[in-house]
Amino acid sequence: MQIVRTRADLRAALAAAPRPIGLVPTMGWLHDGHTSLIARARTEARTVVVSIFVNPRQFGESADFTRYPRNEVRDLAICEAGGVDIVFAPSVDEVYPPGFDTTVSVGGIASPLEGAARPGHFDGVATVVAILFALVGAERAYFGAKDYQQVRVIERMALDLALPTVVVPCPTVREPDGLALSSRNARLSPAGRAAAPVLHRALMAGAEAIGAGEHRAQAVRDLMRRSLAAEPLAEVDYVSVADPDTLQELDALDGHALLSLAVRIEGVRLIDNERVSS
Ligand code: AMP
Repeated sequence: MQIVRTRADLRAALAAAPRPIGLVPTMGWLHDGHTSLIARARTEARTVVVSIFVNPRQFGESADFTRYPRNEVRDLAICEAGGVDIVFAPSVDEVYPPGFDTTVSVGGIASPLEGAARPGHFDGVATVVAILFALVGAERAYFGAKDYQQVRVIERMALDLALPTVVVPCPTVREPDGLALSSRNARLSPAGRAAAPVLHRALMAGAEAIGAGEHRAQAVRDLMRRSLAAEPLAEVDYVSVADPDTLQELDALDGHALLSLAVRIEGVRLIDNERVSS
């Protein structure tokens, strides 16, 4: 496994790399969600590249960026064990060299939900992913459905900018109690960790109601909010029942829907979602 930290070294490492190349962009603190993406890339690509970069441009609150967990030694061991060929772990200046002054801003799909709750977040995501796509030139790049809107934003960007990298969405990996794996889970106390599965329980309550014939989106939102209210540590940011293609809120459920939510537990912002058909 090669570890490269500069654009030039990445280019050199990729020059002789067998194709196709599979890219897994991450912010580190790797867990089984990330390793599922690496494993999928390993089955489809001859060269697997993992990027580890905590991207300051996608954090609104600088405290959230500073507190984001980091452990490169452990991450590199996980990459090695997963059969990764190249790890790209650049500095902030290497990704955004002096004078850097471009923002990739995706339109409507980036506006609601995470886009509304975290202004500028998807500009930061789209900009760094565009740079990674350009630097790596991978045939395919792997992203987790846990960040459903992120996948849709990146798909839109890749299509609109005619980027040759195909975006491959992969399923959310969960703990046995339903909590979606996330690097942020590491910041929860034992009490916070015990409270966190309420996100998945609320999604399941919504999905079950739809399965039982509920067609009013607002009734499903209310049910999910009631489910979250049962957990005193959960502070709701948003609860959404939206069209999975446009991410616009639905009135009536007729076909497919995306149930999604963002909740703070002990100040740690957690998100999750579930796709359902009615
Ligand atoms: P992050 O390091 O949190 O930026 O995540 C890097 C990639 O891993 C993104 O494509 C995420 O959607 C994906 N990811 C994070 N958590 C999970 C999970 N629990 N299951 C599947 N993919 C995940």
